[in-house]
Amino acid sequence: MSGDELRELYQEVILDHSKRPRNFREMEHPTHRAVGHNPLCGDRATIYVEVEDGVVRDVSFHGAGCSISTASASMMTDAVRGKTVEQALLLFQRFHQLVTADPGRAAEVAPELGKLAVFAGVHEFPVRVKCASLAWHTLKAALEGGAGATTE
Ligand code: ZN
Repeated sequence: MSGDELRELYQEVILDHSKRPRNFREMEHPTHRAVGHNPLCGDRATIYVEVEDGVVRDVSFHGAGCSISTASASMMTDAVRGKTVEQALLLFQRFHQLVTADPGRAAEVAPELGKLAVFAGVHEFPVRVKCASLAWHTLKAALEGGAGATTE
């Protein structure tokens, strides 16, 4: 796949998820919840998780943010539903490596990330890295029993 094609795919997927975010709703009785804030861009996201027997049965998000943070939160909820808490936290690590690590390492973890690999492109834009990882940091805070997360 050429660089141009990849960029096109990246824009298409992110645009789709930012315009029609999946699992964008508040949850009445989540077992876990955390509020995330990215002061650099102004993104805010509340992540709701329902965990039963160590498995993420349901996950949703609510808040307001830029298209990258919205798309990332939307794709995160799709990616971790049905996973065990351990698998979800491992996915967080992989995603974090993808958007922050050097390109060599990113290529290594990308296959494990499936669709989430489209976020490899944000690596070039440090400000966007925080937008893309906000939902993930907040998910981690929620699962680990914290009340909130900030990208700083
Ligand atoms: Zn943002």
